Amino acid sequence: MLKIDYLVSGGIITNYKCTSVCKHCCYSSSPNWSDDYMTAAMADEVFSILRSLGCYHVHIGGGEPLLKPDKILDVLDAARKNNIEIEYIETNSSWYRDETSSNAILKELKAYGVNTLLISIDPFHNEYIPFWKVKALIEACSKAGMKVFPWLMEFWDDIDSMDDEKPHSLDEYKQLFGHDYMMQLLKKYGLNLKGRAFKTYKPMMKRQPFEQILNESIPCKLLSGIYHFHIDLYGNFIPQSCPGFSIPLRELAHGADSEKYRIFNTLESVGIRGFVELAEKEYRYKPREEYAGKCDLCYDMRNFLVLELGLDLADLKPVNHYKY
Ligand code: SF4
Ligand code: SF4
Repeated sequence: MLKIDYLVSGGIITNYKCTSVCKHCCYSSSPNWSDDYMTAAMADEVFSILRSLGCYHVHIGGGEPLLKPDKILDVLDAARKNNIEIEYIETNSSWYRDETSSNAILKELKAYGVNTLLISIDPFHNEYIPFWKVKALIEACSKAGMKVFPWLMEFWDDIDSMDDEKPHSLDEYKQLFGHDYMMQLLKKYGLNLKGRAFKTYKPMMKRQPFEQILNESIPCKLLSGIYHFHIDLYGNFIPQSCPGFSIPLRELAHGADSEKYRIFNTLESVGIRGFVELAEKEYRYKPREEYAGKCDLCYDMRNFLVLELGLDLADLKPVNHYKY
């Protein structure tokens, strides 16, 4: 049985849709996702289960959660009813239009108990969002009494050295700061190399023989991230560092059937070796001679099952994680 008895702090993914297609996005968010947003009923169910598991505070992220500011209010309302504190809302600032309209949104968020916005500040986001919007939103927050959690100030000078009226590609950054700029970003950021971030950095990663990956296999412990898990808009538990896997939180709280979530269970309890055995035996997966590490092998098998075979597997969700 797959079971969670205790959760401390995590994030709510209210929507996967986003204005941007950032190259470091581990959730593979983009404008191509559906318009789905967490409903009031789902938020109520999720917050009530979280509270029963000992989790009393969460942050909200996406996708871009403020893409539809009206929809977030139902989620905030459900959090308040269940006595769950919202630590901050993550935002990419794309929704900023002008002082008056943003002030109205900030005021409303404050009225619903939100006191901090985490504002993304890095060259990946700057490929899509001009820096003037970030600056203007910070200014608006200051005027509205909304605290700002800037993520990350280390990149401010790099971004500010460009024209803030328009977005700038990572190639422009490479021209200005050197060809190893992507590796500089990786070191400064502490990125989770999954989803689109994995695709971006895969060509720069060291290759490992298939047999060596199997020999080094250890359990992936997908259920152990009790301090930084995520729950998505469909009520699914997303492991701390491995998006693309999910199990409904309501099932995990009571004990989910490990046979129903065999891939998740195998990775959790055995590791990549167990997943390879399962994929070879049941789905005729043919491994290559080498991979850019165990997560490359893991993604290759998952992509094979979801995209090539088109299987609808309960634990490999959402499918758009693999598509985009
Ligand atoms: S990193 Fe944030 S802004 Fe960028 S695509 Fe992902 S969710 Fe959107
Ligand atoms: S092998 Fe798969 S489950 Fe394990 S850490 Fe890598 S991506 Fe996550």
